[in-house]
Amino acid sequence: MSGGNLLARDIGRLAPSPTGAQHVGNARTFLLAWLSARSRAGRLILRMEDIDSPRIKVGAAQQAVEDLRWLGLDWDAGPDIGGPQFSYVQTERLNLYQAALQQLKDRELIYPCTCTRSEVAAAASAPHAGQEGPRYPGTCAQNTAARADELAVGTYAWRLRTTDKVRTYHDGLVGEVRCNVFQELGDFVIAKADGTPAYQLAVVVDDHDMQISEVVRGDDLLPSAFRQLELYELFGWQPPRFIHVPLVVGEDGRRLAKRHGDTRLATLREAGIRSEQLIGLLAHSCNLRPSTAPVTARELLADFDWRRVSRERFVFTAAMHNWLAQP
Ligand code: GLU
Ligand code: ZN
Repeated sequence: MSGGNLLARDIGRLAPSPTGAQHVGNARTFLLAWLSARSRAGRLILRMEDIDSPRIKVGAAQQAVEDLRWLGLDWDAGPDIGGPQFSYVQTERLNLYQAALQQLKDRELIYPCTCTRSEVAAAASAPHAGQEGPRYPGTCAQNTAARADELAVGTYAWRLRTTDKVRTYHDGLVGEVRCNVFQELGDFVIAKADGTPAYQLAVVVDDHDMQISEVVRGDDLLPSAFRQLELYELFGWQPPRFIHVPLVVGEDGRRLAKRHGDTRLATLREAGIRSEQLIGLLAHSCNLRPSTAPVTARELLADFDWRRVSRERFVFTAAMHNWLAQP
């Protein structure tokens, strides 16, 4: 055994966005994140990612907690049970993001950008499938943070000066991946002029501050991992291990969404469906069980192994939905 460190942190996280209800697709990612941490006796944090204020739905945060409990998942710290952090809700942690932003300003690593309002508005949420815009051409890159005061707040957003170099990292499921953030993705928005953080900044500050060592999430966020690695490097922080899992899609190949019918966990829960039924389907879809026979998350712990987890997208069919929706 070499390189073992008994003191190494081993903490995963569940990070729902209460911009809507959690559905079958989210459940699959949460299940894998939970299995990964718990199967090696790691800890888990629940964090509510609610900075996208205009899109937050009343009651959705509470509902997400109930959905996760219904799935049979648990965590060691979170908004409902507290923990060593003063808060596990992003809107209560804004001062942390502002401090990080100030550091980037002082170091001229960001610049005020007066283009693209819609992109700025969208930046508060993680860019999911189909939401990666075109590469920003660097129109405002000659601006400086030092002279941002000459612009009116509300007319600009902060963009990170990305580096023109190829980054590589080993994704726990996808394998070796590479990207030149400057060339392929471009300088990206990290905050509004008033200091309201974008998803990319908030998630890095939180994952660092909460000592997250493993991030499990949908593979539509793989480009964002490279954006986040830029930030880790600039702050001099150790990045977590990333594991990007395939998306759940509908029969049309698109990310599972409303158009594929009502796959909300709350709907299944309220219809009296047992979560073992859904977990059985998800476990089978992940290649963790030979059939869709009902099973609990806890029962999957004993032989959980990432090497068995399917790298294929999971197509959630109408037939599966009908089967699932029968109590
Ligand atoms: N809160 C994000 C979402 O639900 C997850 C982002 C992440 O895991 O980094 O889309
Ligand atoms: Zn610009």
